[in-house]
Amino acid sequence: MTRQIAILSGKGGAGKTSITASIIKMMDSVVAVDADVNASNLPILLPHRQQSTTDYFGMDIASVNHDLCTSCGLCVTTCQFDAISQDENGKIIIDSDCEGCAACAHVCPTNAITMVERKSGEWFVSDMENGSLIHADLIPGEDNSGKLITRIRTAASAIAKETNIAYIIIDGPPGTSCQAISSITGVDLVVAVIEESLSGLSDYRRLAELIQKFSIPHIVLLNKGGFSPEVKGKIVASVEEFGGRIVGSIPFDQKIPQALQELKSLADMNEYKNTINEILEQIVASTT
Ligand code: SF4
Ligand code: SF4
Repeated sequence: MTRQIAILSGKGGAGKTSITASIIKMMDSVVAVDADVNASNLPILLPHRQQSTTDYFGMDIASVNHDLCTSCGLCVTTCQFDAISQDENGKIIIDSDCEGCAACAHVCPTNAITMVERKSGEWFVSDMENGSLIHADLIPGEDNSGKLITRIRTAASAIAKETNIAYIIIDGPPGTSCQAISSITGVDLVVAVIEESLSGLSDYRRLAELIQKFSIPHIVLLNKGGFSPEVKGKIVASVEEFGGRIVGSIPFDQKIPQALQELKSLADMNEYKNTINEILEQIVASTT
């Protein structure tokens, strides 16, 4: 049975993606999913060869057949989103604000308006040495990111099943938005990467509240730590309060951002290989 692990942080900048890439690199076989469809960074850190590109259609939008249109103007007054106008010759113009509600198509007396698919982005399947990587690019300004995340997660499940790979690792988007929800629904475990700071503490609490709503077990990895035992103590207490478990701690180390600039992850740094391996063992132990 395939197990799905989502790695999340309450916000950006906690080091989630570099830690996710490190864990993925240490695995024998894996299907990796970058669920940050607005700004996917996992492919930057994971060597891969792109195999396929698929268009993503987020929602339908209205389209006018001008040969059928009588310029009655009913669609203009019906649209609640001010997405339809008429030019000086009465020609109907539908702009990019169309929300796809289909009200105009419904009222048009001549059936001049139909709903058509609008391309909202693309998603990609790539080969890695130890498995597959799936990531996506949502066109800026397009909505329905949750639907795209669900789409690529479905593709990941199919690949894992087809190739008999036991683990899907999902690099979740930062924050606790609906995208984060799309990334964690149905997963077996959440790994929370938390910056060891007061803001990291409040990020963790927000994330833990979300995880709790879905009754998903979680483990915690502290990152950029070593500054304040008092802050660490508060985070430890919060993790206990939410029923989580701290499985590792990575200190603030200037060498890590330097390595990232060279597109290296913790898995490529001898001093952190053991730490990442131990976290991986904890993930496996928590999902078997
Ligand atoms: S409702 Fe139909 S016929 Fe009337 S202006 Fe709009 S598209 Fe044209
Ligand atoms: S589909 Fe809805 S939002 Fe789009 S143009 Fe028609 S009425 Fe307006």
